[in-house]
Amino acid sequence: MNKVTRGSLLGIEHLQAAEILGLLKLARRMNPRKPRPLLRGKRVLLLFYEPSTRTRSSFEVAAKSMGAMTTLVLSSGSSIEKGESLLDTAYTLRAVGADVIVIRHPHAGAPLLMAQHLDIPVVNAGDGMHEHPSQALLDAYTILRHKKTLKGLRVAIVGDIYHSRVARSGIHLLSKFGAHITLCGPPEFVPETAATLQPGLHISRTAEEALHGADVIMVLRVQKERLAGMKIKLQDYIARYQMTMARLKLAKRDALVMHPGPIIRGLELTWEVADCPQSAIVEEVANGVPVRMAILAEALGKAR
Ligand code: ASP
Repeated sequence: MNKVTRGSLLGIEHLQAAEILGLLKLARRMNPRKPRPLLRGKRVLLLFYEPSTRTRSSFEVAAKSMGAMTTLVLSSGSSIEKGESLLDTAYTLRAVGADVIVIRHPHAGAPLLMAQHLDIPVVNAGDGMHEHPSQALLDAYTILRHKKTLKGLRVAIVGDIYHSRVARSGIHLLSKFGAHITLCGPPEFVPETAATLQPGLHISRTAEEALHGADVIMVLRVQKERLAGMKIKLQDYIARYQMTMARLKLAKRDALVMHPGPIIRGLELTWEVADCPQSAIVEEVANGVPVRMAILAEALGKAR
């Protein structure tokens, strides 16, 4: 197997706890409001094969805050539409002068494949149902602004976990630091096999049980684009799992409500929960910028 370029961030699963702490520490030193030309002259290629609002814009703002140039390539309107392969697109972007490629792709493993064939780092901005490492890092960063430690924290992840790369990366990260995680949803969204992802995971079929005493609640979107034939009755889902103010009251009084976005108000959560004082949803988006500054600085060897 080809080696992956140093500085690449492909997932959380194989990162050491020390590497994660290093990135979080670096993120705390980053301030997008006080630009530092750490990456002056560097070219950051943003290659997005799937829609994105938060991840794409925050990687771009992060790169620009450090003086890098950015170029955005979307699958629609590029030669990808004409049938160009992933690797040919990668070689093209390298030839254009990319110093790092940030890629979002509908297939798990696409960033790894690219990283094995390029001599520049590759950053995974979400690959299919596999991983979304920068989201897990910004979630940990956000939690640690409110809670002293991840160790022993009771985290309830509620919703479409099966299709969620955010859940997968989050579970890997939180498990490494000793959080107690409960996965909650119907069997279609939380199959029994989900518990094998990491030792110590609990599965709960009722929101009430999962939320009881929780410190952090991570609500996930129903990923309609990945349901492919799966029959989910949304009204039943809403009745049993929607995050409502009444359900939120079962969690600790200072429980944090998180969601990677995009949120669908009225489906996985109510309007009131989305905007309640415990909601960290907008803060997560803001924290994405310093965290992605740290990821890019690390990728380009400018972290020190
Ligand atoms: N924005 C996240 C992702 O790209 C979560 C979602 O789409 O529901 O995975």
